[in-house]
Amino acid sequence: MTTSLPLHSALPLDEATYKQAQNCVHCGLCLPACPTYLENRLEVDAPRGRIHLMKAMAEGRIEATDSVRKHLDLCLDCRACETACPSGVVYHELIETARSILPPAGRRTFSNRVIDFMCFHVMPYPTRMKLAMLPARLVQKLGLWKLVSKLNARTLSPSLAKMQQMLPESGPLWPSTASGTFGPTANRPAAKAFKVGFHSGCVGSVMQPGLHQKTIELLQHLGCEVVVAPSQACCGAIHHHGGRPADAAEFAKRNIEAFADCDFVVSNIAGCGAMLKEYNHLLHGDAAWAEKAKAFSAKTRDVSEVIVALNPPKPPHRVERCVTYHDACHLAHGQKVTAPPRKLLAMIEGLTVVPLTESDTCCGAAGTYNLLQPEMARRLAERKIRNIEATGCKICVTGNIGCSMQIRSESARTGANLELFHPVELLHEAYFGRR
Ligand code: SF4
Ligand code: SF4
Repeated sequence: MTTSLPLHSALPLDEATYKQAQNCVHCGLCLPACPTYLENRLEVDAPRGRIHLMKAMAEGRIEATDSVRKHLDLCLDCRACETACPSGVVYHELIETARSILPPAGRRTFSNRVIDFMCFHVMPYPTRMKLAMLPARLVQKLGLWKLVSKLNARTLSPSLAKMQQMLPESGPLWPSTASGTFGPTANRPAAKAFKVGFHSGCVGSVMQPGLHQKTIELLQHLGCEVVVAPSQACCGAIHHHGGRPADAAEFAKRNIEAFADCDFVVSNIAGCGAMLKEYNHLLHGDAAWAEKAKAFSAKTRDVSEVIVALNPPKPPHRVERCVTYHDACHLAHGQKVTAPPRKLLAMIEGLTVVPLTESDTCCGAAGTYNLLQPEMARRLAERKIRNIEATGCKICVTGNIGCSMQIRSESARTGANLELFHPVELLHEAYFGRR
């Protein structure tokens, strides 16, 4: 039964989104899955409490006060509650709609504005991102990075200090980004050769060009033709999760056109992959694009899914290491992909994989969450690092650049000094015998 909503409410939800709130039967089974509830033990920092707040605002029973919005802002949009929910509440549609309507709580500080500018106008554009990173890279080349980092940690706001802390301590001045079409390098008559469109992402293409190169080489080696379309764009996740769905829709349309003739669209970044798979929802109300968006989402895969589907031969090289695997939220909860990355690791001779406690609990990265909510992000990273250390491994494998940067930088801060790898990097080593 659908209750009609008042004309004037603090959160004017459309019927479909409001229905998600109505679907919640208040069972509470999602509470132990929610990272912010695990940390704060408050009902209002749990999915059930947040749904209650959004429903009450939609029904005009409460106002969108700063205090209410703070509890919504603290949500990671990690979607662990969706995996746990027996009633099928699609929570992220609720919180993302709420964020597109309500401004964040509190006063907009200078630091908030800088972060917004970086998130919406720099990060989604690789060339701007490279330009923005250039001064930091020059400081690193001059050997002054540690000194500058210490000064910044004392003078910058927690959000800006976090942004600086996330940057790895070394890297090329101007990372080269792969672009073009790369034919198969191995003849695999038994395997169906796919034409695979590789979505390289915005931050990903600048921060992990080496991983991208290895992903392309691996797909070529397994018989694929890989298309890295030069006209592709950011997946739109930063804008979508930041309450700017119209901008996200423009990015989506560019990507749909860029990969129109590919069998699959592949991402090696969980956050981007989850967004690409959401284009059907993002553009469902746009008559000219809805069908194309549906087809695009249906052919989008995480790289681990495509490699498993290619029925890969046994890799010839041993990789003697002890690792544990962290499930990125947008892979495990956003895309429901948990088995394929583990299958890839199980193919590697010599690799010891130790199970991780709370492997699918968010590490605090959550897109730009660690910049906007640095205190909770830090607590969650410390929780994750404690669990990783308990495995006895110094290497954590994960399929999302945001998680890698968060866990690596926070483990450097705490002294745990963990190494982070993508499953593709270890598999590449097992096939090609070089790191
Ligand atoms: S999305 Fe994550 S942080 Fe937000 S309510 Fe659900 S489980 Fe909690
Ligand atoms: S598990 Fe689902 S139905 Fe139960 S309280 Fe959480 S969101 Fe509501």
